[in-house]
Amino acid sequence: MRLGVLGDVHANCEALDAVLRALASERIDQYIQVGDLVGYGPEPSECIAIVRSLSAVVCMGNHDAAVLGLLDTSYFNTYARAAILWTRQHLQPTDLSYLRSLPYVARQAEYTVVHGSLHLPAQFGYVVSVVEAADCLAMQDTRLCFLGHSHVPAVYLQSAPGVEGIAMIAQPEGEICFRGYGRVLLNVGSVGQPRDEDPRAAYAVVDTVAETIELKRVPYNLGLTQRKIYAAGLPEVLATRLAIGL
Ligand code: ZN
Repeated sequence: MRLGVLGDVHANCEALDAVLRALASERIDQYIQVGDLVGYGPEPSECIAIVRSLSAVVCMGNHDAAVLGLLDTSYFNTYARAAILWTRQHLQPTDLSYLRSLPYVARQAEYTVVHGSLHLPAQFGYVVSVVEAADCLAMQDTRLCFLGHSHVPAVYLQSAPGVEGIAMIAQPEGEICFRGYGRVLLNVGSVGQPRDEDPRAAYAVVDTVAETIELKRVPYNLGLTQRKIYAAGLPEVLATRLAIGL
């Protein structure tokens, strides 16, 4: 099975379109989206419609939960909170019911999808090192688990239980073979707001037969997304940060 794994979209339609165009020739059997469909970006309703049209396996992100009132926004920075309030006013009732239907953990036969970590998934902790990866891997029932939240791509390969048995590979793109390893944890990065100083949209193709993960990047019309952010009246920093990938 070939899986197209989409990171945090954050209502950035231009980035999402570019990723899906790039994936069109990849013979994808199933699309996966790791949560944070909305927040920060100017086209939340449009991005929800696109991802729904893919029949993707999707989980609840912290921004999705905040828009629904399921998460206290006092933990968000000023700009993120302003975007949450803006997003609430620009979603259709059907968008809200779709977001409300998303599970914190989406369990499939071959893989699990969660936004931050399988360790207390509704608290949205971050996996950014082998220490947090160990907590997540310990809760992982399937060999593969996909997550996002940090907006920085990384792959964690477990050869034996415990922190010392985990190899971390952090790179923006490239192919990684997980043959011979046990559990695999993929942080796919972000489609709509990368934070690894590479502004290109991040996604991955996972082949469960070849046992490979391809971390991929694609440029998109970033200037158009910025203009839409300005036109929407969202905080300007949400546009400027896209150009530097932070
Ligand atoms: Zn996010």
